[in-house]
Amino acid sequence: MKKLYLIGNMKMNMNCAVLEPYFDKIVEIAKNTSNIVGVCVPSVYINMAKYMLDGSKVLFGAQNMYYEDKGAFTGEISSEMLNDFGCDLVIVGHSERRSIFKETDEEINLKVKKALESGITPILCFGESLDQRNKNMAFTIVENQIMKALNDIKSEDIARIIFAYEPVWAIGTGVSATSKQAEEMISFAKRLLKDNYNLSNVIVLYGGSLKSSNAQEILSEKSIDGGLIGGACLDINEFEKIINTKVIE
Ligand code: PEP
Repeated sequence: MKKLYLIGNMKMNMNCAVLEPYFDKIVEIAKNTSNIVGVCVPSVYINMAKYMLDGSKVLFGAQNMYYEDKGAFTGEISSEMLNDFGCDLVIVGHSERRSIFKETDEEINLKVKKALESGITPILCFGESLDQRNKNMAFTIVENQIMKALNDIKSEDIARIIFAYEPVWAIGTGVSATSKQAEEMISFAKRLLKDNYNLSNVIVLYGGSLKSSNAQEILSEKSIDGGLIGGACLDINEFEKIINTKVIE
């Protein structure tokens, strides 16, 4: 069986009352699968995740962090703070951060570097908009986003990144990329990493309206190592079905 990475991105959802039984359940689900399970929670619940998930098979982390160590950066959270609570993961460069919060490729690069330096695995998101796809620019955009995010980072460190192809037009829309579209872009990204950094075993996930009804088909594609799951991770029963996806290698 292929060992899939199935990581939830809760975005700005959940509350303590919902999370308590959710965390209890996901610990049990993770015990019974050989897939790798993770959740990126809203930052105020990282403390709760630490106490309920630490020592379990569930990886946990944040959805964003800042690249400076400390100082006058009101509202921001540092990698040291994430480490203080045992975070394994941090999402960097999500398209919502790029578009709503105007994060630039240069800032994303600094965040990836800081996460790696701090021993936290960055989940580096990339992906084109619908307009860019319609203009046949998807591959150029993706190449540009990846290469800029990796600027000045050594191969051995790039190998520690989890990449996530998340076409903007598929995020939260209910319309996922087809398995062929996802495979095509992820194999392209893997070739890019091979050609530029001589890396062959980089982990690349697919994200964008992944759910139990399409997980099997999409995750069966050769180059796809798992999924980053937004909306569908909020319902633990739906997430459980995705986590239990089995794909023959
Ligand atoms: C995401 O935002 O990372 C994501 C994949 O969202 P959704 O699954 O809701 O499309």
